[in-house]
Amino acid sequence: MVSERINSIKKALPKGVRLVAVSKYHPASLIREAYDGGQRIFGESHVQELVGKYEELPKDIEWHFIGHLQTNKVKYIAPFVSLIHAVDSDHLLREIDKQAVRCGRTISVLMQVHVAQEETKFGFTPDELLAYMEGGTWQQYKNVNICGLMCMATNTDDEAQIASEFEQAKRLFEQIKDRVLPQSGGGKEAWKECSWGMSHDYPIAVQHGSTLVRIGSLIFGDRIYV
Ligand SMILES: *Cc1c(COP(=O)(O)O)cnc(C)c1O
Repeated sequence: MVSERINSIKKALPKGVRLVAVSKYHPASLIREAYDGGQRIFGESHVQELVGKYEELPKDIEWHFIGHLQTNKVKYIAPFVSLIHAVDSDHLLREIDKQAVRCGRTISVLMQVHVAQEETKFGFTPDELLAYMEGGTWQQYKNVNICGLMCMATNTDDEAQIASEFEQAKRLFEQIKDRVLPQSGGGKEAWKECSWGMSHDYPIAVQHGSTLVRIGSLIFGDRIYV
């Protein structure tokens, strides 16, 4: 069942868009089922849960951390995480670099930009992120690879609003690529990922530049929060 749903989503995705199967709150057995059907990228948003699943499941899974990451927990996932989607401060980026050095690896990350109308403490505003990237502090962090942006649209039925928020993120992505990275003399090759689109809005996201969609409930059903 899980694999059929994954396959039908994948079939409808444009070329170049990858699916992150968001498995948070779902048991390892369901992930295993998706894995057996060929899915390799899974997204989790709680450190302890991710570590447990990492230990239990096949080692060729690409684990993406998609939620808010606390600085003091980076060390637990640093040895194996493939992509951290939601870097929302310099402080967090510095810690990811430090833990990556400790593990002797380079960790790929995305910067979280806040474009939705909902109040949240997390994510840079577009102006803040542009200024941060222009500032260049991130260039000191040799063991992180900044690959692009992540955002969430407002949770609404208004498709025009969702589209305009994704478009805003996409414009920022292009701005950083064309104006900031060439001047900072690096990072342009890695800068290629746009992580937006969830179960209810991914068809809109892929029309507005998404390269990674993060889909949970459409694949695994409703989450049971305990
Ligand atoms: C849970 C979650 C998703 C998946 O949400 P669905 O609506 O179940 O597809 C995507 N992105 C983030 C950051 C999440 O926390």
